[in-house]
Amino acid sequence: MPQTSSDPQPLSWQIGVVTVTRVEERISPVSWNWLVPEAAALVEQSRPWVDPYVSEDGSKLHLSVHSFVVQTPETLMVIDTCVGTRERSLPGDPNFGERLAAALPGGPDAVDVVVCTHLHFDHVGWNTIERDGQMVPTFANARYLVSKGELEAQRDEEDSESYAESIAPLLAAGCLYAVDSDHQIDSWVSLEASPGHTPGHVSVRITDGDDVGLITGDIIHTPIQLAYPTVRSNSDIDPATAIATRQRVIEEVVDTDVLLLGTHFGPPTAGHLRRHTDGIRFE
Ligand SMILES: [Zn+2]
Repeated sequence: MPQTSSDPQPLSWQIGVVTVTRVEERISPVSWNWLVPEAAALVEQSRPWVDPYVSEDGSKLHLSVHSFVVQTPETLMVIDTCVGTRERSLPGDPNFGERLAAALPGGPDAVDVVVCTHLHFDHVGWNTIERDGQMVPTFANARYLVSKGELEAQRDEEDSESYAESIAPLLAAGCLYAVDSDHQIDSWVSLEASPGHTPGHVSVRITDGDDVGLITGDIIHTPIQLAYPTVRSNSDIDPATAIATRQRVIEEVVDTDVLLLGTHFGPPTAGHLRRHTDGIRFE
């Protein structure tokens, strides 16, 4: 699979007292057919606002894989840990671990919480690293959080390589916590149920007074789905529920100051939803 090179200056946003930093593992051009087939026919009418997220000729989606580092006055968090070093259906980057460590004040050992929005391979790959032939937690002092529903659903996948390498070692180390899908992490950050892509999928809400941010997770793979929420992703396990989740989030966020941070959106990655006479745009 062709890849764009990946050495960006991390993007950063301030949501009240909370700092969010995007650390990119890789952006891969992928065919619409592979991930969101119905979006292919909607590219031209979605220009120019969709331009940063598609190839110049419109034939491919630029799929970004990145972690968000969230720093509140009390808690250092990593939201999703990308693909990792193993061979998967999307390429990772063996140098990502160093880039992520550099973006963490105090380094990996200072991380308090790792959130897995869900347990697909491109969100859990750096949960663990290999040390002396064993897979061990990358963030030695962190609590790893996943929703109860998600962990339950993934028990069926116990024999998958991703589960064996990125989830099972956390269970063995006693640092994986199955929490409610509306779990409050600290005074500023909470989980929010957003099912459909996977049964126990969660998004991450950041709130400081009137300042609000929402890290989507995989309820959306391309901003085109914000304008056309019925456009399905091939990886949505329950498409009808995924559509209902997208519609709910869009209605809640459109024409508000909520900063939407796309888990698979390349730069500029974050923006606001605005309703125009010809439809909704991500700006
Ligand atoms: Zn994903």
